[in-house]
Amino acid sequence: MKLSGSQWIAGNPSSESSKTFRAANPATGESLDPEFREASKAEIDAAVSAATAAFDSFRNKLAESRADFLETIVEEVLALGDPFLERTAAETGYPLARCEAERGRAIAHTRQFADVIREGSWVDARIDLPDPTRKPLPKPDVRSLFQPVGPVAIFGASNFPIAISVLGADTMSALASGCPVVIKAHPAHPGTCELAATAIHRAAERTGMPSGVFSLLHGTSHEVGTQLVEHPGIFAAAFTGSLAGGRALFDAANRRPVPIPFYAEMGSVNPVFILPGALQSRSAAIAEGFVSALTQGVGQFCTNPGMVLGLESDTWDSFCQMAAEGIKKTEPATMLHAGIHSAYLTGLEQRLEHESLDLLSRSATTASDEALEAAAHVFRTTQQGLFDDPALFDELFGPVSVFAGCGGLEDFIEVAEKLEGSLSATIHGTESDLADHRDLISVLQKKTGRLIFNGFPVGLEVCHSIHHGGPYPATTHSRFTSVGTRGIERFVRPVCYQDWPNSQLPMELQDANPRGVLRMLNGHRTRDEVS
Ligand code: NAP
Repeated sequence: MKLSGSQWIAGNPSSESSKTFRAANPATGESLDPEFREASKAEIDAAVSAATAAFDSFRNKLAESRADFLETIVEEVLALGDPFLERTAAETGYPLARCEAERGRAIAHTRQFADVIREGSWVDARIDLPDPTRKPLPKPDVRSLFQPVGPVAIFGASNFPIAISVLGADTMSALASGCPVVIKAHPAHPGTCELAATAIHRAAERTGMPSGVFSLLHGTSHEVGTQLVEHPGIFAAAFTGSLAGGRALFDAANRRPVPIPFYAEMGSVNPVFILPGALQSRSAAIAEGFVSALTQGVGQFCTNPGMVLGLESDTWDSFCQMAAEGIKKTEPATMLHAGIHSAYLTGLEQRLEHESLDLLSRSATTASDEALEAAAHVFRTTQQGLFDDPALFDELFGPVSVFAGCGGLEDFIEVAEKLEGSLSATIHGTESDLADHRDLISVLQKKTGRLIFNGFPVGLEVCHSIHHGGPYPATTHSRFTSVGTRGIERFVRPVCYQDWPNSQLPMELQDANPRGVLRMLNGHRTRDEVS
C-alpha cells in the first residue's frame, strides 16, 4: 500500500514544505518509509478554506446521506485490509490483534453515529406552541434544535492510533453532526493516519460529499496544531493526549479574538477503593483483575488504575502481597514512542527515590531500554504518605500504580476529597458496603465522570450511555464525553426559531414531523405531529 507522505487537503495530496520527518518502529528503532512533510502555513489555510467552503453544502445534506457517508467510510476502511493493520503495528509496536480490535472499535462507533443521525432525535427538537390570547403578552411560537458549529480541528492520541485518531469518535461525531473536519495527524503514526484519511476521501467521493469535508495535516512541531486552533475558520476543537498539550491548546483556543470551545481529554489517576466486604471475600480475584487492568496495553490507557486504596489490616496486607506476586510475573513490553517511554522512566525514577513510597513489586524481567520497554511497578504507602506530597495524586502514564492503606472510613473520604477530577472512580464492595459508605460515594460523584462497581476502569464500553469525561484536569469541559454517541453534542449549538414560517423550518421542527423524531412538544416528549 503506497503512502505519499503528504498532507491530504480536500481529497488531494499536497507537499509544499521541505521540513520532513519519518515514523519509527518503537520496538526496533527502524525508521519507516516514506518521509512525511510537515504542513506549511499555506497548507493549513488551504485545509481550513476547503472546510469552510464545504460547510453549507455538507450540513444541508439529508441526515440519511451523511449516514451513508459514515457507513461508506467503514467499507473503505475494511477495504484497506491487512496492510492497514500491519502499518499500525509497525508504527506502534502493538500486536496485530490489538490493531484489529481497535479497527473493530472504530467501525462500531462509526456505525453507531450513522444510526443516531438516521434516527434523528439527537437534535433535541423542542417546540413551544404560541398562544396569541395570553395576557398580558401573547406567547410567541418558539422552536429550537441543535445545529453544527462549523469546521472543527481534531488531534488524535498516540495510544489509540485507529480508535482515537483519524477514525476516532471525535472525527465521526463531528462528521455526523454536519461539521467538516481538519485533523492534525499524530506524528507517531503518520502512515496509519494517511491510510485512514484516504479511506475517508474515497467515501466522500463515492457518496457525493463536498471534497473539503475532511483534510489531514502532518506536523512534529507544536506550530501546526497551534496555528490550526488559532485559525479563524475553526469553530471548535477536540483533543486526546497529555495535560501539557491539552492545556496549551485550550489556552490558545481561549486567547483567540473569538474564543472557541476546546474539548480536551487528558487522562487521570482513576482511583480504586476496596471496601471491607470485598477485601474479606474477594481479595484474590481483585488482585488478579488489578494486575491485568494495570498492564493491558503496557498501561497506556487514560483509564489505568493509578491509585488503589484499602483499610490497613491483615487482609489489606495479604491483598498487597497477592497483587505483588502477580506483578512480578508480568513481562515488560514496548511503549508507543520515545517521548512516552522517557516520561515513564523519569516519573518512575522520582517515585523510586520518593521517601514516602516503598516499592511493593515490579516485573521480574528487566525491561530493554533500546526496545522502549516498560516494566510494571507498584508502590505502597500510607494515607499520610499520600498527603505529604500532592504530586502523588498526579497520573504517571504507563503500568504503574500506588497502593495506599487508610486508617478508617473518614480517611477514605479525606483521600477522595483531595483527588483531582478523574475520568473514573471504582468501588469494590458489597451492596452493604455501598450503603455504609454513602458519604464516600457522594464525594466521588463530584470528582468523576464514571463510577464503576466491582470492575476495572480499562476496557471502556463504546455505547450510547457511556460518559468518558470528568472534571478538570481529566477534561477541559466536564459536561461532555469523547467516547459514545453523546460526543456529538460537542460540535453543535442550539439555534432557536421564533414565529418562523413552518415550511422554512428545519425538518425536525416542522409541524408534520416528517422525520418522525422524538421532540419536546409543550414540555412533553412525543413523536406526534403538531395538530
Ligand atoms: P501529546 O504529546 O499530548 O500529543 C497529542 C497531540 O497534540 C499531538 O498531535 C501533538 O503534536 C499535539 N500537541 C501536544 N502538545 C502540543 C502543544 N503544546 N501545542 C500544540 N500541539 C501539541 O500526547 P501523546 O504524544 O499521545 O502522549 C504523550 C503523553 O500524553 C503521554 O506520556 C501521556 O501522559 C499522555 N497521554 C494521555 C492520553 C489520554 O488518553 N488522555 C493518551 C495518550 C497520551 P506535536 O507533538 O506535533 O505538537
